[in-house]
Amino acid sequence: MAEKLKRVAIIGGGYAGLAAAVTLAQQNIPVTLFEAGKTLGGRARGMSYRGVSMDNGQHILLGAYRETLRLMALAGTRHDAVLRLPLALSIPGHFALKTPALPAPLHLVSGLLLARGLPLGERLAAIRFAVSLRLKNFRLPQDTSVASLLALYHQEGEIGRLLWEPLCLAALNTPIEQASAQVFLNVLRDSFSRARSDSDVVLPRADLSALFPLAAGEFICKHGGRVLTGSRIRSIERDDENFILGREGGTENFSHVICATAPQHALTLLSGLPETAPAIKMLNGFAYQPIATIYLQYPHDTRLPAPMLGLTGGFAQWVFDRGHTHGTPGLLAVVISAEGEHQDWPAEQLAGKIHLELQRAFALPPPLWHKAIIERRATFACTVGLKRPPQATGLKNFYLAGDYTAGDYPATIEGAVRSGAKAAALISATINPVISS
Ligand SMILES: Cc1cc2nc3c(=O)[nH]c(=O)nc-3n(C[C@H](O)[C@H](O)[C@H](O)COP(=O)(O)OP(=O)(O)OC[C@H]3O[C@@H](n4cnc5c(N)ncnc54)[C@H](O)[C@@H]3O)c2cc1C
Repeated sequence: MAEKLKRVAIIGGGYAGLAAAVTLAQQNIPVTLFEAGKTLGGRARGMSYRGVSMDNGQHILLGAYRETLRLMALAGTRHDAVLRLPLALSIPGHFALKTPALPAPLHLVSGLLLARGLPLGERLAAIRFAVSLRLKNFRLPQDTSVASLLALYHQEGEIGRLLWEPLCLAALNTPIEQASAQVFLNVLRDSFSRARSDSDVVLPRADLSALFPLAAGEFICKHGGRVLTGSRIRSIERDDENFILGREGGTENFSHVICATAPQHALTLLSGLPETAPAIKMLNGFAYQPIATIYLQYPHDTRLPAPMLGLTGGFAQWVFDRGHTHGTPGLLAVVISAEGEHQDWPAEQLAGKIHLELQRAFALPPPLWHKAIIERRATFACTVGLKRPPQATGLKNFYLAGDYTAGDYPATIEGAVRSGAKAAALISATINPVISS
């Protein structure tokens, strides 16, 4: 039996693979997790530059990320690893929305009614929009683009520009003309229509590897599993009973496999498994969108009025003051979601442009240094009606996990974690009878 229990392999140590591994480990089903990189975390990982801790990209979480927050607590992530704030969106000099301490969705309705920077007519139209969506249970008869949805509900004015479009870019990382309105509504539903705390902004205070992946790795090992970093799986073959995973230095057999890589890497691994053809077909139809994070280190006494602020009228969309959250005073992280001409600029030019935009908004001195990171395939493009492969494939005991698999969410940490937990549940349903026998 011990031999049987050792045979679950998880390929990929991002949030999806780790969520799957923690879920199985909690049920005392030992797993072996293979991660190609040196660090755990995948597209949400910590790194260091000039001795300063940062991430491959600035991330935010939401109170609605219930599965992520649950698994973080289970793995032993410290409570103070995040800064949890009631929803408040501010673009200094242009727009401010605060949600008062009322139950959902009244907190949003009041927030919209009292929002600064919007004409009264637009605020009332926004409330009608929110009420109407709730009455329809946030379901559309047919998917359409976010831009079309906003037009249908007369939301394209200042409120579209200052609220809905930035929210759509932040959540779906896809321009509103292409973005799936249904997926956008799924995020709005979970954030605004359940508990008030679901709309909280949850800002990491630790780097993204320390936030969950490292604690998850320790949890997995404590529960009899193995976590192998620097271990890229190069091939997956099958014999009558097993999956044979090949990597540098040899092969290993497993009865169950979860492939938890990013979609473009899954395509390569699936190519030798003809039963997964439907998933391969869907993955071939995927397009991708970039996210740029530009870190600018200002003098240590630089401090913005809030840890997260919106920007408008330029390329920068959000600025995060990591002095508030990460104990790195003066380090600002500016995020630009989705495609744009900025993505082909040299780092120097991009950082220079972003500094000018920040200077205009906050009267800052020149930065001491900068680091621009553009993740070119940050997420799949979450387009209208996109078909995403389910976690169960046509191949017995072979599952997919990752932010791109079928689910309510766009490519987010919560989407990744939910998919991992689901793939794990599918496996434990087949393995648990073995344990209890
Ligand atoms: C810059 C940026 C900003 C973002 N901002 C946010 C945000 O604010 N909020 C939010 O919720 N989401 C955000 N996201 C999205 C979020 O990071 C992803 O949705 C999530 O991390 C995806 O996790 P995953 O486990 O599905 O995939 P990945 O993180 O891609 O994990 C897959 C892992 O598989 C490994 N791997 C690949 N091939 C192999 C192989 N052959 N063998 C072994 N290992 C392999 C990779 O090294 C990787 O570690 C952002 C993403 C980026 C890039």
